[in-house]
Amino acid sequence: MNHTDTAEFQETDLNEKLCRCGCRFQKPITTEDFGELAGMMEKLTETWWSNKVLCDGCIDEHLSDRRKTERLAEWRAICPVQFQNTDPARLERPERYEKAVNAHIWTGQNHGRGLLLYGKTGMGKTRAMWSVLLREFLRGKDITVLNSGSAFEYARMMSIGVREGMDWLQHKITVPVLGLDDIFKGKLTDSWESALFDIIDSRMENGRPFVVTCNDVGDALAARMSPDRGPALIRRLREFCERIHF
Ligand SMILES: [Zn+2]
Repeated sequence: MNHTDTAEFQETDLNEKLCRCGCRFQKPITTEDFGELAGMMEKLTETWWSNKVLCDGCIDEHLSDRRKTERLAEWRAICPVQFQNTDPARLERPERYEKAVNAHIWTGQNHGRGLLLYGKTGMGKTRAMWSVLLREFLRGKDITVLNSGSAFEYARMMSIGVREGMDWLQHKITVPVLGLDDIFKGKLTDSWESALFDIIDSRMENGRPFVVTCNDVGDALAARMSPDRGPALIRRLREFCERIHF
């Protein structure tokens, strides 16, 4: 039987429904021989059919909308309130924010790149970082952010035990996407500098993406780090990252 023979037939066919998207979807054929299960299958299909109001495509879309809503709720627990809603129009240089947010920095597992947002304070670097992280978070990737306060967290974990400190470090090395917000600010202790070096170096080695914000990427930054790590780290950051000047 061809259900598309006449429009009149479509209007009255009990085996067809009209979805909100405008498409018509059909009841699957259930009269095949299911042996002893035939009657049961028939009943199940009838129940399913009487409840079904959306086509498969619209059901998938509805589910992914729901997943997105759940993910956004999780996001609110992670992202600081002041960075949850950014209106680019209110930024001094909105085009830089847009450029950062639209940067494609990861092209697949082990092929990620970094995004380096640098420039003076108050231009929206941190906002841009959180917006990039949100984009990836909604795509299902887990994220973690380190800031200047993370040095204390690391020290606290190390004081509990070396194992705890190493686990903490390992998580920052392997989390799918890492944000590093102004972590080079001020004088770094040797152990924190070493930890940061390990995190960044390992991520670059394994192509794991990250987003860094900092005020400068030149001599001033190198001067705050020890001579054996600073220049090497800056050189490698420049190679690995797409740089956007704010
Ligand atoms: Zn539909």
